[in-house]
Amino acid sequence: MVMRTHKFRLYPSNEAEIKMLNSLELCRQTYNELLGLLNEQKEIDKSQIQGIIPDMKICDSRFKQLHSKTMQYECYRLFSNLTALMQTKKKNRRVGSLRFKGKGWFKTFTYNQSGFKIIKTGKRHQILKLSKIGEIPIRCHREIKGKIKQITVKREASGKWFASIAEQTDKEIAPIRKIEKVVGIDVGLDNFVYDSDGNAVKNPRHLNKYNEQLAKLQRNMSKKKKGSINKNKQRIKVARLHEKIVNTRNDFLHKLSHYYVNNYDAIGMEDMPMGLKNNIFAKSKADASWGKFRQFIAYKAESAGKMFVPVPYKGTTQRCSQCGKIVHKTLRDREHNCFCGFIAPRDYNSALEIKKLMLKKLEIGQELPESTPAEMEAIPVMATSVVEAGSPTL
Ligand SMILES: [Zn+2]
Repeated sequence: MVMRTHKFRLYPSNEAEIKMLNSLELCRQTYNELLGLLNEQKEIDKSQIQGIIPDMKICDSRFKQLHSKTMQYECYRLFSNLTALMQTKKKNRRVGSLRFKGKGWFKTFTYNQSGFKIIKTGKRHQILKLSKIGEIPIRCHREIKGKIKQITVKREASGKWFASIAEQTDKEIAPIRKIEKVVGIDVGLDNFVYDSDGNAVKNPRHLNKYNEQLAKLQRNMSKKKKGSINKNKQRIKVARLHEKIVNTRNDFLHKLSHYYVNNYDAIGMEDMPMGLKNNIFAKSKADASWGKFRQFIAYKAESAGKMFVPVPYKGTTQRCSQCGKIVHKTLRDREHNCFCGFIAPRDYNSALEIKKLMLKKLEIGQELPESTPAEMEAIPVMATSVVEAGSPTL
């Protein structure tokens, strides 16, 4: 069994949106109430805190507007915050205690196990039916085949609403196909990827453009007066653009990973500790994308009966893929120039080395049939789809 989470856009009516905002506010109040009780306890007693939830509904009828599981989820949220805090404390960091959440702080509310239903309409929008809220049009980019375990409704800073749907599916492991075409992929800053067939893919140009726009908007925002209407307007602009960047990047990563899984039977990538590469490059954004890219390749390969092969990252940049000698390079050296006569772009040499390591790991060495390198097709990038993969929070 695997859990998968998909994020879909919601299009609530005004009436539904008022109820959704009300749910956020009531969840916040529930959380604060439970935290208040936790603070009074000499010894932590979770069951007592959980037990107060039905009483709250009796004492204050407003809480009847919340689905019971949604309310209970706030208890889960409180205790996972508490666990996180304890773990931070263990590392001897100076931390305080859990804080009460101020107005407008809550961005999500969650239905766990029950209180939801998706109605298929056969049209562009399906219907998400939520207990205590009603029917909300939802744009599903992919069909949900598994059993839905949890739905989290989120209001983004831009004012748009989304639903993160966690589904449980039978592990889709297709039988491994015969390995004929393999590829090694190197990731980097210059080119987002460089593969062992000599294809290089840059980050989509949109992203650079958007990132520049974002920096400009953020500068403008910081000049506006605190609490002013203009500042608020600017804040929404920043949030919208930020959302666009995330969508564009995800779309790019989905298309690129799809390309590799479609065209190759085995795909090798460095098994690099992400934090390490991060230290070297100090580019956390690119770093996050590489991690996501690997994750996309791994799960798409699994569903398609292809292989994802992580190889040790150490030395892939310095080692010559042809003779195995170490050729030292600094970050600035973009070319691999070995005594053995092999000269190639640095990332291309790395990709070839990754492929070599992968073949060794697969123990297929020389037996592989000669294949013509796949021709890289253009990867169109659109900022429309919002599909996210990852593990759910519960
Ligand atoms: Zn060499």
